[in-house]
Parts: sequence; structure tokens; C-alpha cells
Amino acid sequence: MDTPSFGPDTVLIGSSKKAHRPGCQHNDDTMIRSGEHTGWGWVPRVGPEQWLRISEAHPLRATHGDTSRVAIQRCKHCSRA
Ligand SMILES: [Zn+2]
Repeated sequence: MDTPSFGPDTVLIGSSKKAHRPGCQHNDDTMIRSGEHTGWGWVPRVGPEQWLRISEAHPLRATHGDTSRVAIQRCKHCSRA
């Protein structure tokens, strides 16, 4: 399938309400992008400040994919990115 990959500013949101960056070991970005992994939402452009602000007080809602997904915490493995 000819699907462009996620940009580095993308935030991926799974069912556990955690926000991930592309390339995280927990995600299969290609499968999420192509829709083969369902239940994931994402936001294409999230700057460093918005990323750091993700919390219960400042949830980030997915704008693509499964838009019911909301992130309230950052994945620890991704949080250095
Ligand atoms: Zn992660």
C-alpha cells in the first residue's frame, strides 16, 4: 500500500490514553497509518510545547483515524523525543 509515513511531529494515541511519537517500540506506525491496526488515532502536527502539556488537565484529542481517542499522558519511552 502506498501510504506516506507519519511525520516526526505526529502524535499517535492508542486505547490506553497514552500519547506516542512515531518510531516508538510500542507502535507499528505503518500498520496504524494504513488502517490495518484499528483503534488508533493521531494528530499530525504537535509541537514540543503541546507535547509536554499533554496531561489530564490538557488532554489531546485525535484529529485523524479513530477520533474518539484522547491522550492524557505521554509514553515514557517517547517522552525524550
Ligand atoms: Zn511510546
